Amino acid sequence: MIVAVLLGVFLGLVWFSLRYAWWRPALDYRYPRILMYHMIATPRPGARFNGLRVSPQRFERQLRWLSARGWRSFTMSELLARAGTLPEKAFAITLDDGYADNLLQALPLLKKYRCKATLYLVVDRFDRDWSTQRKKYHDEGELKGEAKLSDQQVRELLESGCVELGSHSMTHANFLCIESAAVRWELEESRRELEKRFAVSVSSFAYPFGLYRPEQVELVKQAGYSSAVTTREGIENADSWQPLELRRIKISGKDSWLAFLLRMRGGRRGWR
Ligand SMILES: [Zn+2]
Repeated sequence: MIVAVLLGVFLGLVWFSLRYAWWRPALDYRYPRILMYHMIATPRPGARFNGLRVSPQRFERQLRWLSARGWRSFTMSELLARAGTLPEKAFAITLDDGYADNLLQALPLLKKYRCKATLYLVVDRFDRDWSTQRKKYHDEGELKGEAKLSDQQVRELLESGCVELGSHSMTHANFLCIESAAVRWELEESRRELEKRFAVSVSSFAYPFGLYRPEQVELVKQAGYSSAVTTREGIENADSWQPLELRRIKISGKDSWLAFLLRMRGGRRGWR
């Protein structure tokens, strides 16, 4: 019995060490951290997508820690414009999809800690169950049922001065499953529509599901975007990054506090 417990603890430590590489030195703090969030909401018992729900309490703890430790917040366009002259400990908060809690829960905390965020908004986001576009069996309607930001709520976010607008496509399509012409439409039409509807310029894109084919990167550029974020986990060196395929740090509602600290620290294999 005791042997089994010790073995369990040992295997747990091995798993944790391999996953977070805590023994490696922290990744250079001149490399900005781009944080990926979706909902700022309390996880629901038994729900499939709780990884996408970071509770407001947890979000506040993260912002408090970042500001106390001297991290400085930027929007994605600021990050791009200042590449090469960024201070140490620069970070960008990104919010994908356009959930109503981004206004109701996240904005008050962004204001409190003087942080900025980039909202990657799906134009046609109401009554859509985009999780089925990735996996057909994800058909419980869980994300479809989540309240999305109305256009008026998006305006409130933008008027706060804390939030920049980016595109997350027209319909949250899976780029691996559609033709080039459709990809082009998702890219160009969403940018045009967002700029018209909200009277702001839109220069950054987030690939739906983080899925795309290598040749589609050129289409993102042709559509007029100067940066694009993926869901690949990692930290970029702004001197040598590929601005249309930026990696991010996934902030999951399922992670422990220690996991958050280790993700910010970086140093995992393949993250450079
Ligand atoms: Zn998304």
